[in-house]
Amino acid sequence: MSKPVKTDTKELERELRVLGLGSPDLCFQCSRCTSGCEAMKLLELQPHFVMASVRSGFIREMVNSDALWACVGCYKCRERCPQNVSPVEIMYLLKNKYVRSGRSIPGDYQTMLQNLMTCGFIQKNIEVLDNKGNLHERSELGLPEIEGVSDVSKFMELISRLAIEKICGERV
Ligand code: SF4
Ligand code: SF4
Repeated sequence: MSKPVKTDTKELERELRVLGLGSPDLCFQCSRCTSGCEAMKLLELQPHFVMASVRSGFIREMVNSDALWACVGCYKCRERCPQNVSPVEIMYLLKNKYVRSGRSIPGDYQTMLQNLMTCGFIQKNIEVLDNKGNLHERSELGLPEIEGVSDVSKFMELISRLAIEKICGERV
């Protein structure tokens, strides 16, 4: 069985301090984050379990966990937490560690990233879902077309610079 790594915990706490976020130690396992989690309903992500593992120093296990990639980034866990802990931000930091280790991100994320880099949106064709579950083109509903990025190369340069800053913690 793997052992907790204290230096990993210290490093994560330092990263959280830089972002102005509280320590995972503040989490008292009330599970309010999990009870409101959108990904819990469909994909069984349990943010309170991620927090418990991180608090105990099992950060490498969490970095390697597929569960992290189920998070849809809705920020409900952060809103619901009575301790002002932010499971979603902690999961972003864990995902950054995964990427920094040189491994490739799941396919769907690559598609979203590619779309973002080329048109500014994570999804190219943005259709509208009605309350009966049917999809409609925006033009069908008389809605204006969504304009993409006007200067793609400038946009890509900016996004790449931000990504390097976020992932490597370096200002470029
Ligand atoms: S809501 Fe906050 S305190 Fe409660 S389990 Fe989740 S992270 Fe911990
Ligand atoms: S941000 Fe992620 S972990 Fe938090 S409630 Fe939403 S889906 Fe769940």
